[in-house]
Amino acid sequence: MIIDLRSDTVTKPTAGMKEAMFSAPVGDDVFGEDPTVNALEEKAAKLFGMQAALYCPSGTMTNQIAIRLHTRIQTEVICHKYSHVYLYEGGGIMANSLASVKLLDGNLGKITADQIKASINPDDVHAPETTLVSLENTMNKGGGSIYTLDEVKPIRKVCDDHGLKLHLDGARLFNALVETEESPADWGAQFDTISICLSKGLGCPVGSLLLGSSADIKRARKVRKSWGGGMRQAGFLAAAGIYALDIHVNRLKEDHARARTLGVMLSKLPFVSEVFPVATNIVIARLDRISPEEFLKNLAAREIKAVKFGPDLVRFVTHLDFGDDGLEDFGEKINVFHNY
Ligand SMILES: *Cc1c(COP(=O)(O)O)cnc(C)c1O
Repeated sequence: MIIDLRSDTVTKPTAGMKEAMFSAPVGDDVFGEDPTVNALEEKAAKLFGMQAALYCPSGTMTNQIAIRLHTRIQTEVICHKYSHVYLYEGGGIMANSLASVKLLDGNLGKITADQIKASINPDDVHAPETTLVSLENTMNKGGGSIYTLDEVKPIRKVCDDHGLKLHLDGARLFNALVETEESPADWGAQFDTISICLSKGLGCPVGSLLLGSSADIKRARKVRKSWGGGMRQAGFLAAAGIYALDIHVNRLKEDHARARTLGVMLSKLPFVSEVFPVATNIVIARLDRISPEEFLKNLAAREIKAVKFGPDLVRFVTHLDFGDDGLEDFGEKINVFHNY
């Protein structure tokens, strides 16, 4: 059996999820007539205490639409230098919104209110106007690290004091919330827009949600249309999202427990110099004496898949299709590396 830990996007829909998908009532969502899409959008908006939501094909689209809403040509976005919105969205901030980026450094991928405050551009002819701060929770490149509400509230205050919008790339927000036990509504209250991925830990085949005010989501719907993201009988896909919000949130804790065990296993290998603190379902290991390519090749020979995540880093992500059997199998297979 192949153990695929490259990402939590590799999961296949469960039997229960497929049943929900096949039996979904559908209509033409571009006409606003798909009852299942409408139900998913309403359910998510209500959960986060936000006015409205928009179902999109991907998290890249929901993030990029949010950035489009909160910027104009010659304005600037503040984010961490390892943010998904900057690193992994094809240069979309520039290509889709003609905006500039201010990249901040920070521990485990996180930035602070003080750093943000110091990075807001002055009202000066030389500088692009700062209009948006974008945070990521959990932070992928920080090893699945978590922002708490106590860290976000001072950031919200800086944004309010300076007239900035605040967006959350919450691709894995539920992974954070099941650990902190903070409520989605308390998070909804802090942000202008939130993007949530249904196709990561929540196990859907497709889909992300953008949450925000009714006015912002109305504009977002038009941006989505112009980018070709208006889908027709999308309720078959949205049904998976409803199912996942009901059934797949609490079980994320299991993925976290397995990730912690996996982190301990990796930390015992002689060529692993460091494992990032395992906060959720992402495990990042730093290697010495052996390159990521060599380690990954040796893992692949044992039917284990992971990804390179930097010059000396590899990443493993636990998910719905990685159970206790997989974990045990993983432990046995990596035993051979103890004499490496
Ligand atoms: C996966 C991911 C996204 C969105 O990715 P898509 O593949 O476009 O759905 C956004 N942000 C983070 C942190 C992610 O991990």
